[in-house]
Amino acid sequence: MNAFDQKLFDHGLTLTRATPTILQLNLGKLCNIACTHCHVNAGPHRKELITTEDLNRTLDWFETTDIPTLDLTGGTPEMHPDFRALVERVRNFDQPREVMTRLNATIIEEPGYEWIPEFHTKHKIICVASMPCYSPDNVNEQRGDNVFDRSITAFQKLNKLGYGIDPELRLNLVYNPNGAFLPPDQKELEATYKREMKEHFNIEFHDLYCITNMAIARYASYLKRNKQLDEYNQLLVENFNPASIDGLMCRDTISVDWMGRVFDCDFNQQLEMQLANGKPLDVWDIDLLKFEKMPIKTAAHCFGCTAGAGSSCGGSLT
Ligand code: SF4
Ligand code: SF4
Repeated sequence: MNAFDQKLFDHGLTLTRATPTILQLNLGKLCNIACTHCHVNAGPHRKELITTEDLNRTLDWFETTDIPTLDLTGGTPEMHPDFRALVERVRNFDQPREVMTRLNATIIEEPGYEWIPEFHTKHKIICVASMPCYSPDNVNEQRGDNVFDRSITAFQKLNKLGYGIDPELRLNLVYNPNGAFLPPDQKELEATYKREMKEHFNIEFHDLYCITNMAIARYASYLKRNKQLDEYNQLLVENFNPASIDGLMCRDTISVDWMGRVFDCDFNQQLEMQLANGKPLDVWDIDLLKFEKMPIKTAAHCFGCTAGAGSSCGGSLT
């Protein structure tokens, strides 16, 4: 039994699946920037992208399900050459689905990507955008030079089209700590963000998601270089919160990588913890009735989801 499962056992808890409500599809590792906290190791030189054939197989399967939301991740999802065709297809299913993008706002400022604000508005794509601080230094340190200014300009463009204001054009921002500590209270930080973003940049948004940094991939290397990895992992274990279990995203999300392989979450994806049902599981082979009975694969990194207020792709859990 791993340390996380032992902790659940000690608290009399079990981690089981609920009905899937989100298909989270990672389109690949290509990104125009390379943030220090990136658990995907994405960047401008990465070549991994889902093929058109595998994308179509995934969408063929998705259309047969009742899963209401497609959550697109990367890399920067908009850099995938099939991004627009895929969104158009999903929004035009007989039973149209919500589409969410993990938006790296700086992409809007890159030549060739000027289409993004209007396209996203037309298809009412839910934008969830990283913005680890409301002041430039922290953001640039974590995400690279000029990322703050380019993100601000991009949010202003989205606001002009109604994003962050119109309830049908959701713009949610994501905060993650700029160091080896847990996020603060989400509601309190959201109020501060709203005030600062409005006052200094005239930017509005809907919700702020506080996400705990996961000590894997590039972020683990960063902590290791700073001799903080063990201390950070200990912090996560010491702050285990049993109340976070019910909301864990692995319970109702199906996570799929750029090769169609199925995982419990984006983190397990990066750790190559593919699900198997007799043989390694690809998304187009999922039988949802059987899937809901499959155990969730856990390991020590799961403490990153259960520390403090808990953490998921939709922010705090408690
Ligand atoms: S965190 Fe997002 S924006 Fe930053 S490198 Fe990774 S995928 Fe790109
Ligand atoms: S890391 Fe993944 S499997 Fe582990 S608790 Fe978090 S969401 Fe669930």
